[in-house]
Amino acid sequence: KVRTRFAPSPTGGLHLGGVRTVLFNYLFTRQHNGQFILRIEDTDRTRFVEGAEAYIYETLAWCGLNPDESPAIGGPFGPYRQSERKAIYGRYAEQLIRDGYAYYAFDTPEELEAMRTQYKTAENPSPRYDSTLRGKMHNSLTLSSEETKKLLDAGTAYVIRLKVPENETLRFTDMIRGEVVFNSSETDDKVLLKADGMPTYHLAVVVDDHLMEITHSFRGEEWLPSAPVHILLWKYLFGLENMVTWAHLPLILKPDGNGKLSKRDGDRLGFPVFAMNWTDPRTGDFTKGYRELGFLPEAFVNMLAVLGWNDGTEQELFSMEELLQKFSVEKIHKKGAKFNYEKALWFNKEWIKKLSADQLKPQVIYWLKNAGIDISGKEDQLPGIIEQVKDRCTLLSDFVEQTSFFFQAPEKLDLDAVLKKWNDQKNSFFIELIRGYELATDFTPENLEHSFKELAAASQLKPGELMLPLRIMLVGGKFGPHVFDIAAAIGAKATISRIKYALS
Ligand code: GLU
Repeated sequence: KVRTRFAPSPTGGLHLGGVRTVLFNYLFTRQHNGQFILRIEDTDRTRFVEGAEAYIYETLAWCGLNPDESPAIGGPFGPYRQSERKAIYGRYAEQLIRDGYAYYAFDTPEELEAMRTQYKTAENPSPRYDSTLRGKMHNSLTLSSEETKKLLDAGTAYVIRLKVPENETLRFTDMIRGEVVFNSSETDDKVLLKADGMPTYHLAVVVDDHLMEITHSFRGEEWLPSAPVHILLWKYLFGLENMVTWAHLPLILKPDGNGKLSKRDGDRLGFPVFAMNWTDPRTGDFTKGYRELGFLPEAFVNMLAVLGWNDGTEQELFSMEELLQKFSVEKIHKKGAKFNYEKALWFNKEWIKKLSADQLKPQVIYWLKNAGIDISGKEDQLPGIIEQVKDRCTLLSDFVEQTSFFFQAPEKLDLDAVLKKWNDQKNSFFIELIRGYELATDFTPENLEHSFKELAAASQLKPGELMLPLRIMLVGGKFGPHVFDIAAAIGAKATISRIKYALS
């Protein structure tokens, strides 16, 4: 039975790398008819950010990647918020001490600072609390048990540290990387339980993966260096029984491939890195997200799926159904994936083309309403209109410009484009055209075009030179579908009044 988890810390908005982690966990789980769990890792209270958890739910819902168990919906392995499981971790930390795998450390911040200065050498510029130094520090390994007990009874502040063995080979098989080997000496004596009684990430993640019966976990490559600590904990606590199988996902790199993509790259280069808009309540910093920019969730998810994976063919567009069929761990790349915002836009454009007008309709209504455009009474026309303009739209927001003139007269007319070549002859042509259109009984695109061209011929003008002015009168600028389709769609009254207004 497959059980996976996404275990974010609620410390900010959800970065696209985080959503990709969700996606890969999700696809793998659904392929194996398993359960996908959302666990909130909120034990670091100093980094906790109000609203971040709600943001995570909303993002997952927007992407269609809903968990089977979570703090919000509950489940048989709850609570799913680590801050509510404090007592559990304390018990496991005590067990490690009893078994000799961990110890109490009473070192004050000053003592730790002194250690860093005292043992600093050219070869070892930042000495660590590890097997080489723990014997010189202030902990239950260097104190007698009576002294330790006395300190504990007196309520002296302490942390519990993992007693990392010296020079032990630790290995595991990563689903993506295969056999990964570490030497335990690379790791210091990690804190497991903090002075406030809260566990650190390392203890909590291992205890919860065990208790929640997690079988597989896709997580970012940045967690690979933590794996030896986790292996030791799995060994000391659970005898390595049913240890979770990890897949460390390749990093998402900056567009130029130089290092990991960060929020700052987005700010600097003008693209979002968050799934949705995010305002940091601590700083008030606002960051735009994919959703609000007008990305379709289908495109966002597709774009993430191919950051570090493809099915071995040239195919780039994948629906969720196809991903569920074709996704495979074997085809996940080991190398980092370069992020490319132009490509993200391309995915959105392709998805707008791919979806039907009816599928796009609710989104377009949302965008038009948001832009203050009243479409009441014309909803039925919308699918036809969407069909005419969707190939010109890259973002959903483009539908506002591309469709608003169907519902209301343009606010501004880009007359610069035609004024230079304007003359009395053209003016009279349009006055005549109004008369013609006023008398027209059948306002179809074909009829409108026919009478337009007839009148142009009679006035000895080239229809080509008159079509752009007409477009600008109806639409406001040099864009939109076929101009007579627009005239027919908005009807005789609106067509005539827009021409009149432009001439005035
Ligand atoms: N809480 C960790 C994070 O914020 C989870 C890492 C893991 O998946 O083990 O990403």
